[in-house]
Amino acid sequence: MFFEMFFLGTKEVRGMADRIYMDNAATTPIKKEVLDAMMPYLTEEYGNASSIYAQGRSAKSALDKARETAATAIGAKANEIYFTSCGSEADNWAIKGAAMGWKDKGRHIISSAIEHHAVLHTLEYLEKNGFEVTYLPVDEFGMIRLDDLKKAIREDTILITIMFANNEIGTIEPIGEIAKIAKENKILFHTDAVQAVGHVKIDVKELGVDMLSISAHKIYGPKGVGALYVRNGIKLDNFMHGGAQERARRAGTENVAGIVGFAKALKLATDDIEENIEKLTTLRDMLIDGISERIPFCRLNGHRTQRLCNNVNFSFEFIEGESLLLMLDMKGVSASSGSACTSGSLDPSHVLLSIGLKHEIAHGSLRLSIGDFTTKEEIEYVLDVLGPIVQRLRDMSPLYEEIERGIRNV
Ligand SMILES: *Cc1c(COP(=O)(O)O)cnc(C)c1O
Repeated sequence: MFFEMFFLGTKEVRGMADRIYMDNAATTPIKKEVLDAMMPYLTEEYGNASSIYAQGRSAKSALDKARETAATAIGAKANEIYFTSCGSEADNWAIKGAAMGWKDKGRHIISSAIEHHAVLHTLEYLEKNGFEVTYLPVDEFGMIRLDDLKKAIREDTILITIMFANNEIGTIEPIGEIAKIAKENKILFHTDAVQAVGHVKIDVKELGVDMLSISAHKIYGPKGVGALYVRNGIKLDNFMHGGAQERARRAGTENVAGIVGFAKALKLATDDIEENIEKLTTLRDMLIDGISERIPFCRLNGHRTQRLCNNVNFSFEFIEGESLLLMLDMKGVSASSGSACTSGSLDPSHVLLSIGLKHEIAHGSLRLSIGDFTTKEEIEYVLDVLGPIVQRLRDMSPLYEEIERGIRNV
């Protein structure tokens, strides 16, 4: 029945150019300034940064500048920035590198139940290899409790890894306080800041984190490049073995164009961050308030205020998230039902289950992540189409019919 309806509606599909992109937490388009900065290194400036002749020196100089720019953007020193192939690699390196480097001191790691799979699956791998992991639960808003963290710390705890902000529900964790607790107990602290960068003001020195992961394609940079900030003096085993690139800590010929684009994107994302946060927060709240007012039986997931300025996540009772996504797609709107990694699988998101949602409610969830190109008109359009879509889907639900007729209580 669903499919008939979907295909009848395909005439309504809008062209790619006028689509409304509300999945910026999955990836972002490259900004023009970023592409312009990259172009020379994709064309004439093709040297290997390790070569001593002119082209090599030019690539090396571009890398040095990019490293300086990236460091400044997060309050680090240039020699604390290590470029990687993506955010996932940065997470893998921080966690496996710390585990291997510190295994003689202990084999216990503390994390949270709502981490990105780049962290969770890395920890699962370590668990199969003799490490023990405590996954802190979160409250109904997705926040860890500092008391739980303190209680989880053991003599043999070597690493705490807790994300800065959640990619599905947007909750921002108390990173400064976690860093303080880690420091008091002489435990390394890593945070996956892939979603937070550009949406939260970040100064690694002020925060006191030891390691922090970033990815370029979530902040209008190219795909396939990221960075790990590693505070000076931190012992960390290598993850990529090979040549002496990245001060002999991360092998592989540098992705010069990608790194230059990444640095440019990071600079753009942090230069006017306060204004940008304000602008996005206004748009985000228009969406949140509009949905809450117009659609009955819905629930905002995540924290109301300790929340990423670009994240909106709702659960709608009596509907299927996948059907909702397909119908939004037909109306030209790109969104997500949670996390890109879980779509295609029938398991509800581990994040939504962790905040206490029942399976059937978690299944009816929608993430709208706005971005620098989102307009007020787009928000209004989404608000206009979402209500009727939810209603159409509910009209097909026998359960909802009973609720409407007053036979059943919610
Ligand atoms: C996207 C994302 C990653 C992975 O980054 P990639 O560059 O895509 O590998 C890791 N953590 C979080 C929170 C993310 O949102």
